[in-house]
Amino acid sequence: MKLSIVIPCYNEAENIRDFHEEIEKIIKDLKIETELIFVNDGSKDQTLLMLKELSNENSSVSYVSFSRNFGKEAAMLAGLEYATGDAIVIMDADLQHPPHLIPSLVEKYDDGYDQVVAKRTRRGETKSRTLVSKLYYKLMNHFIEVDLVDGVGDFRLLSRKALNALLSLKEYNRFSKGLFSWIGFKEYVIEYENVVREAGQSKWTFSKLLNYGIDGILSFNNKPLRISIYIGMGITILSTIYILVMLFQTIFYGINVPGYFTTISAVLVLGGIQLVFLGVIGEYIGRIYYEAKNRPIYIVDEENIHQRNEISKKY
Ligand code: UDP
Ligand code: MG
Repeated sequence: MKLSIVIPCYNEAENIRDFHEEIEKIIKDLKIETELIFVNDGSKDQTLLMLKELSNENSSVSYVSFSRNFGKEAAMLAGLEYATGDAIVIMDADLQHPPHLIPSLVEKYDDGYDQVVAKRTRRGETKSRTLVSKLYYKLMNHFIEVDLVDGVGDFRLLSRKALNALLSLKEYNRFSKGLFSWIGFKEYVIEYENVVREAGQSKWTFSKLLNYGIDGILSFNNKPLRISIYIGMGITILSTIYILVMLFQTIFYGINVPGYFTTISAVLVLGGIQLVFLGVIGEYIGRIYYEAKNRPIYIVDEENIHQRNEISKKY
């Protein structure tokens, strides 16, 4: 069998050498043919230079370099499209995904599992982030039909079968955590302790995380739209009843003291709710707009690919 390892890299110059050394050690012991596919996601540091050196020195190291930063989802997709292995591992370049787990992942693949997932047991993050992510997963699993598990990230092994299924999902707005779950197949979960980042900075700012979270909820189904319809219907029924009661009162008892308070509050509440759901609808239309444009998910600037498959095009 052949193993492909896909590594998205954004400003990881400080980590790449260490990462490669660690991986090499593991691969030697594994004794199976392995290719490493690094994807340079428009880094602003020396990442590309390091990758060039590495791939010139090692025939097992290939790289793809984007014309700008397209985001981790795009970088993963590119790596997966270029991968030629029978099994594919996706992992981060910052050594937060411990390479020593790779043999266990491969072992489970040999046992016949199509997705072998590595799950973090302790997040080792700030308390507030842990709380927010717990809440988020609760909400998500309630909202969408796919099952997402806290602590399960992109670190996993896919069989060729699972990978081909994943690549057949062509959407522009990719939310991998959901896609992995959506394709299904026999899955096995391995747990590991959280590790702190080796060098450099995490690229997740609060706003990036928030956007990612909203992507997750909206990219899977139209439940938010459905909920807006329910709330809208409820409010319409209530206000119709209220208007009828008012009409009845006016006709039979004459005009009351002008209800300034009720008027204003109705306008405000309705206005607020309308804005929220207008936003939800706008989000969906925006997504349709992006999908309809059918742009490529990433643009390759340069590459050094030692072994090519039919999917990866030459740029
Ligand atoms: N990454 C990427 N493009 C981006 C942001 C991140 O390819 O726009 C890569 C990054 O180089 C790393 C992985 O995705 O290999 C995870 O990023 P990071 O460590 O910042 O995320 P965290 O571990 O904090 O969730
Ligand atoms: Mg990290």
